Amino acid sequence: MACSRCSCATGPHRRRRALHRDHPPPPLTVSTRPTDARHCPRERRRSWHLAEFGTSTRFVVGATRRDTHTGPVWGPVRKVVLVKLPSLLAVFGHPDDESLAAGGILARHAAAGARTAVVTATWAPTTQRVAELADALRILGAGEPRMLGYADAKVPESALGCPRWCDAPLDEAVRRLVMQIREFRPEALVTFDAYGGLTGHPDHVHTHRVTMLAAEAAGLDVYPDAGHPWAPSAVYLTTHPRSSVKEIEKVIGARGAVYATPDEKVTDRVDVSPLLEQKVAAILAHRSEVDRGALPGLVARLSPAAREELLSTEWFIRRPLPS
Ligand SMILES: [Zn+2]
Repeated sequence: MACSRCSCATGPHRRRRALHRDHPPPPLTVSTRPTDARHCPRERRRSWHLAEFGTSTRFVVGATRRDTHTGPVWGPVRKVVLVKLPSLLAVFGHPDDESLAAGGILARHAAAGARTAVVTATWAPTTQRVAELADALRILGAGEPRMLGYADAKVPESALGCPRWCDAPLDEAVRRLVMQIREFRPEALVTFDAYGGLTGHPDHVHTHRVTMLAAEAAGLDVYPDAGHPWAPSAVYLTTHPRSSVKEIEKVIGARGAVYATPDEKVTDRVDVSPLLEQKVAAILAHRSEVDRGALPGLVARLSPAAREELLSTEWFIRRPLPS
């Protein structure tokens, strides 16, 4: 019988230790299908340590390998932790915000099997920016773009004939977002903090305000024409702690980093370095922003080390919602 570890014939088990000294196992890899190991009799003896967290699906972060015939062998002890992650609906102002501010957790939750999607407030669905957004969301596993279709505060031609997002009638904007929340039924929402992120762009600030109103309204019996009530459990606000700003300014310059949150108010710090490649690819999918030298263009010019410094951590402030 072939062995899944090194393709040798396993033969008499007394020879196993020698065989695998000559043919060492391949590097340990993260797998979302730990039970695959069971197809080989040798692998069936592997000891899996399972734990659960959250409410959605599984995420393998390591494994423990033991062999009952030869005792513990082959490198470091590993643990398999099956983690359930909540479904996410992210709400951002412009195409590219989703990848820059939350690309890591969107990719992480999608990789773990959780449902993810992104609502974007500005730019018309027929524009190049939205075609690029579709590419970015494909990379992040976040479905198709969900556009509200308002105009960018600084680019009136982004949605000709439509009001600027930050000038739109508030009640109508909230109702349209409530409709998106009730349709997708996420367990958590993600949006900007009250500053509107490091730059404080007016569209970002307005996105925060509308999302906070819609998050609460979605669970009530208001806007009856916008679907059945659905209450997410929390809103996660993307932010940067003040202690991180100095390092960020070294990469993007002091001009770009104006607003940050006192460290003690930041509730969640997520290391997204395992998803960094995906996050960077999603950012660079916004090709017109790369070309015009906006933040995706800066990311394109950074060294791998600087990209890691800038993008491998995402911070959040958790705002629980009434059930
Ligand atoms: Zn933006």
